Order: sequence, then C-alpha cells, then structure tokens
Amino acid sequence: MKQVRVRFAGFRNTDDEWVNVKTDLRERSIPLEPAECHMVNVGDLVMSFQEKEEQSLYFDAHVVAIQRQDHDATECKCVFLVRYDHDNSEDEVQCSKLCRRPSE
Ligand SMILES: [Zn+2]
Repeated sequence: MKQVRVRFAGFRNTDDEWVNVKTDLRERSIPLEPAECHMVNVGDLVMSFQEKEEQSLYFDAHVVAIQRQDHDATECKCVFLVRYDHDNSEDEVQCSKLCRRPSE
C-alpha cells in the first residue's frame, strides 16, 4: 500500500499524517520526487497543493513557468509557477507541493 506523508497547513510536523495515496488522493496522480522535477515541463497538467485559510487541497493546475535550480536528488530547489484551473489564480510552489500525472 503506497502512502504519502501529509502536513496540514497551520499544524506542526508532529501532526503529520500518513494517507493512502489510492483512497485519499485523487487517483492517477503521483507525488513528485525531488529527483523527478526535470520531468515536469511548462504547459503540463499537474496537481498542486493550494493553501487557503479554510482548507488546503490538491487542485488541477497547469505549469506556467519553471525556475530550475541545480540540486541533488534529495531536495528540489526549483520554483514552479502554476495556474489553478478552477480559479485561474497563480502560485509559486515547490516540488513538494506538486503531484505529476503518470506518463502515458
Ligand atoms: Zn528541482
């Protein structure tokens, strides 16, 4: 069973929860690993974690721009500018807030 560690906005890391990717995250999205950030390109449809006051959720978003940085496989330092499909807002997020679609 594949699980990912989720940190809820506004809570400390001691409140992190492990969630089941299959049931708790939308199907067919894969958390982006730092070593995989080069697989994301401008124009790609991704899932991005949008933090709001009431709730924080993953939403469909398109990658508008990428500021790529040199880094190792353990920590991504790139900055991804995404535009959310549902409200057209733009946000600069890091790799840890993105899920990619599996390549066909
Ligand atoms: Zn990166």
